[in-house]
Amino acid sequence: MNLEDLKKELVAISRLAYHRGLTSGVSGNISQRVPGHDQVLIKRSGTSFADAQTSDFLLVALTGELLAGSGTPSVEINFHLGIYRERPDVGAVLHGHSTFATAFAVAGKTLPALTLASAEGLGEVPLVPYAPAGSQELAALVVQAFRSSNIKAALLRRHGMVTVGKDLRQAFYLADLVEDTAKVALLARLIS
Ligand SMILES: [Zn+2]
Repeated sequence: MNLEDLKKELVAISRLAYHRGLTSGVSGNISQRVPGHDQVLIKRSGTSFADAQTSDFLLVALTGELLAGSGTPSVEINFHLGIYRERPDVGAVLHGHSTFATAFAVAGKTLPALTLASAEGLGEVPLVPYAPAGSQELAALVVQAFRSSNIKAALLRRHGMVTVGKDLRQAFYLADLVEDTAKVALLARLIS
Protein backbone atom coordinates (compact mmCIF):
# COMPACT_ATOMS: atom_id res chain seq x y z
CA MET A 1 0.00 0.00 0.00
CA ASN A 2 1.29 3.48 -0.83
CA LEU A 3 0.76 6.49 1.46
CA GLU A 4 -2.48 7.57 -0.22
CA ASP A 5 -3.96 4.08 0.11
CA LEU A 6 -2.94 3.97 3.78
CA LYS A 7 -4.65 7.34 4.36
CA LYS A 8 -7.83 6.07 2.64
CA GLU A 9 -7.82 3.05 4.93
CA LEU A 10 -7.38 5.37 7.95
CA VAL A 11 -10.41 7.41 6.79
CA ALA A 12 -12.51 4.25 6.30
CA ILE A 13 -11.62 2.78 9.71
CA SER A 14 -12.12 6.15 11.45
CA ARG A 15 -15.67 6.35 10.11
CA LEU A 16 -16.44 2.75 11.05
CA ALA A 17 -15.07 3.36 14.56
CA TYR A 18 -17.13 6.52 14.97
CA HIS A 19 -20.34 4.83 13.86
CA ARG A 20 -19.71 1.88 16.19
CA GLY A 21 -19.51 4.39 19.05
CA LEU A 22 -15.82 3.74 19.70
CA THR A 23 -15.23 7.42 20.30
CA SER A 24 -17.20 10.67 20.40
CA GLY A 25 -16.88 14.22 19.09
CA VAL A 26 -13.30 15.08 18.21
CA SER A 27 -11.91 12.72 20.86
CA GLY A 28 -9.76 9.71 20.12
CA ASN A 29 -6.92 9.19 17.71
CA ILE A 30 -5.75 6.60 15.27
CA SER A 31 -2.44 5.86 13.62
CA GLN A 32 -0.80 3.44 11.25
CA ARG A 33 2.86 2.50 10.82
CA VAL A 34 4.13 2.93 7.26
CA PRO A 35 5.29 -0.61 6.45
CA GLY A 36 9.06 -0.87 6.06
CA HIS A 37 9.74 2.68 7.32
CA ASP A 38 10.31 4.35 10.69
CA GLN A 39 7.28 6.51 9.94
CA VAL A 40 3.68 6.74 11.09
CA LEU A 41 0.49 8.31 9.75
CA ILE A 42 -1.51 9.85 12.59
CA LYS A 43 -4.72 11.88 12.80
CA ARG A 44 -4.45 15.62 13.10
CA SER A 45 -5.54 17.15 16.41
CA GLY A 46 -9.09 18.52 16.55
CA THR A 47 -10.49 16.34 13.75
CA SER A 48 -13.42 13.99 14.35
CA PHE A 49 -13.32 10.34 13.33
CA ALA A 50 -16.73 11.06 11.80
CA ASP A 51 -15.57 13.31 8.99
CA ALA A 52 -11.79 12.94 8.81
CA GLN A 53 -10.36 13.30 5.29
CA THR A 54 -7.12 11.89 3.91
CA SER A 55 -5.52 15.34 4.41
CA ASP A 56 -6.22 15.03 8.15
CA PHE A 57 -3.55 12.34 8.48
CA LEU A 58 -0.02 13.60 9.02
CA LEU A 59 3.21 11.75 8.30
CA VAL A 60 5.58 11.77 11.27
CA ALA A 61 8.90 10.07 12.00
CA LEU A 62 9.05 7.59 14.89
CA THR A 63 11.11 10.28 16.63
CA GLY A 64 8.11 12.66 16.44
CA GLU A 65 9.33 14.96 13.66
CA LEU A 66 6.54 16.12 11.29
CA LEU A 67 7.47 14.98 7.78
CA ALA A 68 4.40 15.85 5.69
CA GLY A 69 0.97 17.43 6.09
CA SER A 70 -0.24 20.56 7.83
CA GLY A 71 -1.57 20.97 11.36
CA THR A 72 -0.65 19.51 14.71
CA PRO A 73 -0.53 15.75 15.27
CA SER A 74 -2.89 14.25 17.84
CA VAL A 75 -2.17 15.26 21.43
CA GLU A 76 -1.55 11.58 22.27
CA ILE A 77 1.19 11.19 19.67
CA ASN A 78 3.70 10.26 22.38
CA PHE A 79 2.04 7.01 23.38
CA HIS A 80 1.35 6.07 19.75
CA LEU A 81 5.03 6.51 18.84
CA GLY A 82 6.19 4.92 22.08
CA ILE A 83 4.17 1.77 21.36
CA TYR A 84 5.57 1.53 17.81
CA ARG A 85 9.11 1.92 19.12
CA GLU A 86 8.54 -0.70 21.83
CA ARG A 87 6.52 -3.20 19.76
CA PRO A 88 7.80 -3.99 16.23
CA ASP A 89 4.78 -6.32 15.83
CA VAL A 90 2.33 -3.40 16.09
CA GLY A 91 1.19 -1.83 12.81
CA ALA A 92 -1.72 0.29 14.07
CA VAL A 93 -2.94 1.96 17.28
CA LEU A 94 -6.50 3.08 18.04
CA HIS A 95 -7.47 5.22 21.03
CA GLY A 96 -11.11 6.01 21.74
CA HIS A 97 -13.44 7.21 24.48
CA SER A 98 -16.18 4.60 23.99
CA THR A 99 -18.94 4.84 26.58
CA PHE A 100 -18.98 1.40 28.22
CA ALA A 101 -15.24 0.74 28.28
CA THR A 102 -14.70 4.26 29.63
CA ALA A 103 -17.30 3.60 32.34
CA PHE A 104 -15.15 0.70 33.59
CA ALA A 105 -12.07 2.94 33.40
CA VAL A 106 -13.82 5.70 35.36
CA ALA A 107 -14.98 3.22 38.00
CA GLY A 108 -11.42 1.92 38.25
CA LYS A 109 -12.48 -1.62 37.36
CA THR A 110 -10.57 -3.96 35.08
CA LEU A 111 -12.50 -5.34 32.15
CA PRO A 112 -13.87 -8.79 33.04
CA ALA A 113 -13.42 -11.28 30.18
CA LEU A 114 -16.86 -12.83 30.72
CA THR A 115 -17.64 -13.75 27.13
CA LEU A 116 -15.97 -16.48 25.13
CA ALA A 117 -14.99 -13.91 22.50
CA SER A 118 -13.25 -11.66 25.01
CA ALA A 119 -11.53 -14.53 26.85
CA GLU A 120 -10.12 -15.81 23.56
CA GLY A 121 -9.64 -12.55 21.73
CA LEU A 122 -8.42 -10.06 24.32
CA GLY A 123 -6.59 -11.84 27.12
CA GLU A 124 -5.34 -9.53 29.87
CA VAL A 125 -6.50 -5.91 29.53
CA PRO A 126 -4.43 -3.73 31.90
CA LEU A 127 -5.95 -0.69 33.63
CA VAL A 128 -3.49 2.17 33.17
CA PRO A 129 -3.32 4.56 36.18
CA TYR A 130 -4.55 8.10 35.71
CA ALA A 131 -2.34 10.77 34.19
CA PRO A 132 -3.47 13.92 32.33
CA ALA A 133 -4.41 13.49 28.66
CA GLY A 134 -1.53 14.30 26.33
CA SER A 135 1.09 14.20 29.09
CA GLN A 136 4.48 12.51 28.90
CA GLU A 137 3.49 10.75 32.12
CA LEU A 138 0.46 9.17 30.44
CA ALA A 139 2.55 8.20 27.42
CA ALA A 140 5.09 6.44 29.66
CA LEU A 141 2.34 4.57 31.54
CA VAL A 142 0.60 3.45 28.33
CA VAL A 143 3.83 2.27 26.73
CA GLN A 144 4.67 0.37 29.90
CA ALA A 145 1.24 -1.35 29.80
CA PHE A 146 1.87 -2.50 26.22
CA ARG A 147 5.46 -3.64 26.81
CA SER A 148 4.52 -7.33 26.69
CA SER A 149 3.68 -8.60 23.22
CA ASN A 150 0.65 -10.43 24.72
CA ILE A 151 -1.14 -7.16 25.43
CA LYS A 152 -3.65 -6.12 22.77
CA ALA A 153 -5.77 -3.59 24.68
CA ALA A 154 -5.72 -1.40 27.77
CA LEU A 155 -8.16 0.83 29.65
CA LEU A 156 -6.99 4.29 30.73
CA ARG A 157 -8.37 5.49 34.07
CA ARG A 158 -10.90 8.35 33.75
CA HIS A 159 -10.19 8.43 30.04
CA GLY A 160 -10.84 5.62 27.56
CA MET A 161 -9.16 2.69 25.87
CA VAL A 162 -6.29 1.83 23.54
CA THR A 163 -5.97 -1.15 21.21
CA VAL A 164 -3.12 -2.26 18.98
CA GLY A 165 -3.08 -4.57 15.97
CA LYS A 166 -0.85 -5.78 13.21
CA ASP A 167 -2.94 -3.54 10.96
CA LEU A 168 -5.79 -1.04 11.23
CA ARG A 169 -8.56 -3.59 10.78
CA GLN A 170 -7.24 -5.67 13.67
CA ALA A 171 -6.92 -2.64 15.97
CA PHE A 172 -10.50 -1.65 15.04
CA TYR A 173 -11.94 -5.14 15.61
CA LEU A 174 -10.23 -5.30 19.01
CA ALA A 175 -11.60 -1.89 20.01
CA ASP A 176 -15.06 -3.09 18.98
CA LEU A 177 -14.55 -6.24 21.08
CA VAL A 178 -13.38 -4.21 24.10
CA GLU A 179 -16.47 -2.01 23.95
CA ASP A 180 -18.79 -4.98 23.42
CA THR A 181 -17.17 -6.82 26.34
CA ALA A 182 -17.71 -3.83 28.62
CA LYS A 183 -21.33 -3.55 27.48
CA VAL A 184 -22.09 -7.24 28.11
CA ALA A 185 -20.29 -7.20 31.48
CA LEU A 186 -22.37 -4.27 32.69
CA LEU A 187 -25.67 -5.69 31.42
CA ALA A 188 -24.90 -9.13 32.91
CA ARG A 189 -24.24 -7.47 36.25
CA LEU A 190 -27.59 -5.68 36.07
CA ILE A 191 -29.48 -8.86 35.19
CA SER A 192 -27.88 -11.12 37.80
ZN1 LIG B 1 -8.20 10.43 24.82
